[in-house]
Amino acid sequence: MSKRDYYEILGVQKNAAEAEIKKAYRQLALKYHPDRNEGDKQAEENFKEAAEAYEVLSNPEKRSRYDQFGHAGMGNNFNGGYGGGMSMDDIFSQFGDIFGNAFGGFGGGGGRGGRTRRVNKGSNLRVKVKLTLEEISTGIDKKIKLNKYVGCNSCKGSGAKNGTGYNTCSSCGGSGQVTRVTNTFLGQMQTSSPCPACGGEGQVIIDKCNTCFGDGIVKGEEIVNISIPAGVSEGIQLSMGGKGNAAPRSGVPGDLIILIEEAEHPFIERDGTNLIYEHFISFTDAAIGTSIEVPTLEGKAKVKINPGTQSGRVLRLKGKGLPSLNSYGRGDLLVTINVWTPQLLSREEKIMLETLGSSENFKPNPKNEDRSFFRRMKEYFQ
Ligand SMILES: [Zn+2]
Ligand SMILES: [Zn+2]
Repeated sequence: MSKRDYYEILGVQKNAAEAEIKKAYRQLALKYHPDRNEGDKQAEENFKEAAEAYEVLSNPEKRSRYDQFGHAGMGNNFNGGYGGGMSMDDIFSQFGDIFGNAFGGFGGGGGRGGRTRRVNKGSNLRVKVKLTLEEISTGIDKKIKLNKYVGCNSCKGSGAKNGTGYNTCSSCGGSGQVTRVTNTFLGQMQTSSPCPACGGEGQVIIDKCNTCFGDGIVKGEEIVNISIPAGVSEGIQLSMGGKGNAAPRSGVPGDLIILIEEAEHPFIERDGTNLIYEHFISFTDAAIGTSIEVPTLEGKAKVKINPGTQSGRVLRLKGKGLPSLNSYGRGDLLVTINVWTPQLLSREEKIMLETLGSSENFKPNPKNEDRSFFRRMKEYFQ
């Protein structure tokens, strides 16, 4: 699985147009093609790496996700993410739109030679995964059970009853396409469409499997290990290539798309990579100073409150926030200190407070404060 920059692999600029990307990949694919580099492991690696880069950069949606989140956005941290999951067969199935008919049979082997033949693709599977802030902070491996289409065991996914195999479709002669000629006032027009007899596959099953009735797939379950990188946020989608629904008759499986959801934390709110927590102290503690315990994602932390702390003061606990998905460093935990004004007072308490309240020291005097809040207020009203 590749960690090199996809643009670098293809040797194109970040703003390269689609045609440029295609051209760059075409050249690399020809250069490193296994048929021309037999037994050369490095060439094979380069070949796969280029295919992976092209797979992402040729798809506008994947490309923009890659531009935003880099490899993490592509689910490259997954077991069997793009790099690991892209088989030679996947790569050759890309070739149709790259090399067109001229290279249709190039390296195809097996059923790939038929140019316009349809390759079955499994559908993508979407799952939601809800994570706590603690899980987001560290990243987490999860096992999830998927209800999905899996390859049929009885026929090994072929759809054909034990080894009976396929016949070339007689309607289209194996091309998967039927051509129709119609007479119009402009002359004869030729149109091609997928062959209805074989569904465009170019071949038909001789004797259908009794378990899957020729589909090659059945409803089943699979436990998948997913590894979610630290720092993800609500709404991010991670993709695991090849972990979606199996494709009919041994085609290319779909992808598993994981949609991240955030569970609410009882005390802490999230703001990007920063975390926000509000703490109330009594006004006697605010005046005399104290020490408080605040929750962090890694347990409790002690924080000193200086004598004379005003309500609304924000204390910053450096590095106690969340990591960034695609760069170094962590955010901070911002603790807002609020002073609790008592709402119920006994007669005696009221008398004591009245006595204290007449003291000059108890009167608000923001001029003596160097708190940025008061500075901002002063500037604002000037
Ligand atoms: Zn046909
Ligand atoms: Zn079957």
